[in-house]
Amino acid sequence: SYSSVYEPLTEQGAISLTVRLGLFREGAPLVCREIGDGNLNLVFRIVDKEAKKGIIVKQALPYAKVVGESWPLTLKRAVIESNALRTFAGYVPQYVPKVYYSDESLAITVMEDLSHLQIARKGLIEGKTYPLLSQHIGEFIAKTLFYTSDFGMNQQEKKQLAQSFVNPELCKITEDLVFTDPFFNHETNNFEEELRDDVEALWNDDKLHLEVAKLKRKFLTEGDALIHGDLHTGSIFASDEETKIIDPEFAFYGPFGFDIGQFFANLLLNALSRPEPQQEPLFAHIDSTWKVFTTIFSELWHTNNVEPYAKTKGLLEEVLHHTFVDAIGFAGCEVIRRTIGLAHVADLDGIENKEERLQAKRHALRLGRSLILQRQNLASTEEIRSLFTESV
Ligand code: ADP
Ligand code: MG
Ligand code: MG
Ligand code: MG
Repeated sequence: SYSSVYEPLTEQGAISLTVRLGLFREGAPLVCREIGDGNLNLVFRIVDKEAKKGIIVKQALPYAKVVGESWPLTLKRAVIESNALRTFAGYVPQYVPKVYYSDESLAITVMEDLSHLQIARKGLIEGKTYPLLSQHIGEFIAKTLFYTSDFGMNQQEKKQLAQSFVNPELCKITEDLVFTDPFFNHETNNFEEELRDDVEALWNDDKLHLEVAKLKRKFLTEGDALIHGDLHTGSIFASDEETKIIDPEFAFYGPFGFDIGQFFANLLLNALSRPEPQQEPLFAHIDSTWKVFTTIFSELWHTNNVEPYAKTKGLLEEVLHHTFVDAIGFAGCEVIRRTIGLAHVADLDGIENKEERLQAKRHALRLGRSLILQRQNLASTEEIRSLFTESV
């Protein structure tokens, strides 16, 4: 091991690390560039120019830039990320980058280079549809949730595993930025002045506050399974054939419905940015994700369940029903926070025409609110279309 005291890597340092690890052939002509786009982490891509082979080195920074200031943020999230990728690889290796090496004290994960794929958010904004996206994400979620839950693994071992994914600082970011700040007049919020009336209506909406508080409580208390915790379309690499999930630094034992909800929300945020005739593939992805998820989860339930009550009539239906209702509610919170909270999405912010952009954002706020308030009344994902249309 090359473990040492933490310091941020330079490009040369990243090259040296991969050479020491023997990840490139002797004497390979290596170049390195920092390609990260975030405020939290460095991402280096080291390439052998002749063999055209790359390696990724991701390193957590000990602080996050939030509203112009630096906040200390635990380096432990790098261990969480590499351990989550390894745990997921135990169930669905086809959907995560291979981890070659990790170092806790340097907060580093060395992994497979996925540059032949495209970040799904970027592709979706360009109008791509990624025909297999929902098949793959549905399978990823079904298997990782089932196998890390009290239904799919030894219940004592599950408690041990959950302990190794205790992630309070990253959870707090979600608790604040997804479930709290956007619903109050908080300094982290960020929205066009033209939206103020719409936003203040949310801040004064007691009925909405009660429902968001219930959803936040679920996020705080329900440890169903190891969830990714940040499964937006910027955490997904895709092509027409392949899908890979990256960036699980927010992973922890959380509610079944959370990842599904965030994924749905980010498909909806993209739909909000498209002309109506091009929205259908996104709704189809939502339907298909849910269908694939329930099919695979149910199959595993019947074949691999360790819980003595597994065969009790009605239990699977109860679990799936609550997962569905929660996912719709979480999706509503995510749609709202990506519109007026601290971290926006390029799908909406990239709409160049100001009036169209404001219109899409008002639509987003109404849709988010309906998803939260109507979540108990939706009979299927197909009804999300009607909510979408009614909230124009
Ligand atoms: P952050 O936690 O800072 O958001 P990400 O893990 O999402 O970091 O990575 C940021 C960016 O770095 C991604 O959007 C992508 O462009 C690039 N990147 C990350 N991991 C890989 C990878 N395995 N292969 C290629 N590019 C990657
Ligand atoms: Mg980023
Ligand atoms: Mg990311
Ligand atoms: Mg991240």
